[in-house]
Amino acid sequence: MSEEFHLGLDDIDSPRGGCTTHFASILVERLSEWDIEWIDYPNLIRLNPNIPYRTRGNGAVALRFRASPELAQDVIDLVVKMIPEYVERGYPNTNPGVALLTGNPPDRVQQLSEIALWRVLSLKVIKRSIEELGLWHYTLGNGRGLIGALSAIGNRLVGDHTYEYIAYRQLASSSESRGVDPDSVLEMDRVMGDRTFSNVDPDEGTILIEPHGPDPVLYGIRGDHPRDLIEAAGMIKTKQEIEQWTIFRTNQGTGQHLLHRVRIGDLRPYMSAVVHGTVTVPGRMIEGGHLIFTIQDETGSIECAVYEPTGEFRRITSMLVLGDEVDLFAGVRPASRTHGMTLNIEGMRVTALATKQRFENPICPKCGKRMKSAGHGKGFKCPKCGHRERKGEKIVIREERSLDLGVYLPPPRAQRHLTRPYSRLDRVNLRPAWPPSTEWHGHVKKS
Ligand code: ATP
Repeated sequence: MSEEFHLGLDDIDSPRGGCTTHFASILVERLSEWDIEWIDYPNLIRLNPNIPYRTRGNGAVALRFRASPELAQDVIDLVVKMIPEYVERGYPNTNPGVALLTGNPPDRVQQLSEIALWRVLSLKVIKRSIEELGLWHYTLGNGRGLIGALSAIGNRLVGDHTYEYIAYRQLASSSESRGVDPDSVLEMDRVMGDRTFSNVDPDEGTILIEPHGPDPVLYGIRGDHPRDLIEAAGMIKTKQEIEQWTIFRTNQGTGQHLLHRVRIGDLRPYMSAVVHGTVTVPGRMIEGGHLIFTIQDETGSIECAVYEPTGEFRRITSMLVLGDEVDLFAGVRPASRTHGMTLNIEGMRVTALATKQRFENPICPKCGKRMKSAGHGKGFKCPKCGHRERKGEKIVIREERSLDLGVYLPPPRAQRHLTRPYSRLDRVNLRPAWPPSTEWHGHVKKS
C-alpha cells in the first residue's frame, strides 16, 4: 500500500557551485526511474530573503510523492549516500538538512513555514518539532538546513504560485562561460509578453535569466504556466548544452514574504514586513549613492535606506516629501555602531500625497514687479516704483507633484525572487497544478 511522502531539502551547496535545486533536480531524475508517483512538481520555496545566513536566494525544495514505505526507505538510503558525495564532505560553507514527513503536513508544520517566510526561526525550535513529530531527518555541518527543509515541506503553495523552468549544465563545466545568446532571450521576452517575467532588465537591456556565478544553473525562466515555460525555453540559444532540466512550482513573484503589516515599534531585526508611515525627513543622498529618508507612525520613527543599485527606484523615492504616506515593503537591518535599526526598502505603495507648497512675495499692484520684504512685520515694498503694502502677505504657491499614488518597485535586476513584479501585481494564479499538462523534467541520456 502506498503512502504520501514529503521530502524537504535545504542548504546543499558544493564547492563547485552546486546548490539545493540542482541536487533536487538530480534526485528527481533518479527517483523518476523508480516506482513512485509524483503528486506535485518539485516545490521551490523561497524563504525570508532578509535572514543573514543565506548564500543566495534562500531557496529550499520539497519533493512530494506517493510510494510504498519500503521504497521510501530506499529514498532515504539514496539521499544519505548522495549528499556527502555532492557536497564533497568537509566543504565548510554548507549545512545540509533533509526531513521526511509521511502524510499531509500537520498545521504546526504549516505554521512554522509561514513564519520562515518573514521572520528568523531558531534551529532549536525546528529540531524540537522534528523530534516531536518523529520525522526522519539527516544533517551535515551545523544542520541549519533543517529549518529550510521543514519550512519547504509545510508550504503547499495553496494560493498564488508561479513556475520556474531551470536548465542545468554539467557541474564539471560550471566555471566556464554559459554562452546564453542575449538576442534569443530578448526575442523570447518579446514573444512571451506577460506570460513570463523577469527575463530582461528594461533599463539596461541586460539578460536576467542567466546567473553570473560558477554554478550549474544554465538559465531559469519564470512564468505562470509550465506550458509557457517550455515554449520559452525552446527559443533560448546557448553555447553550453543542457544536461538536465526541471520545472519547479514556486512562491517566486508572489510577494509571499510581505503579508504582515508591522508597526515601527514592533519591528525586529531581519523581519520582512510592510510598514506604514508618514515621511518626516525626505530623502538625502549619502556616500555610495544610497538614499536615506525617515518615516514615523504612532509607535516611533525609523530611517529607511534605498540602495544605489536600485537606480530609477531611488530617484522615485527621492520625490517623497514631508507628510507623504507610504506602505514600505521592507527588510529590517539591525542597528550597528554607526546607525540605528534601518528599513531596507524593496518597494513601496504611496497611499497619500501631501500638498507641496512654497511661499513667494506678492506682486506690486501698481507696476507688476515682485515686491521685497520691508523688514519684519513691516509688509512689502516695491523695488521699482516704491509702492508699500504694509499689510501685504506672502502668497502660497501649490506645487504640482510629479509622484502619483500607487506601487513602485526597483528594476527587475534589483528585485528579490519573491518580489511580486509589475506584471503580476493584480494576478493570482490559482490554476490546479496537478496532474501536469506537459513534461516537467528531463535529462540528456548518457551513452
Ligand atoms: P542555495 O540556493 O544554495 O540553497 P540559499 O541562498 O538558499 O542557497 P542556503 O545555503 O540554503 O541559502 O542557506 C540559508 C540557510 O538559512 C539554510 O540553512 C536555511 O535552513 C536557513 N533559513 C532559511 N529561512 C530561515 C528563517 N526564516 N530563519 C532561520 N533560518 C532560515
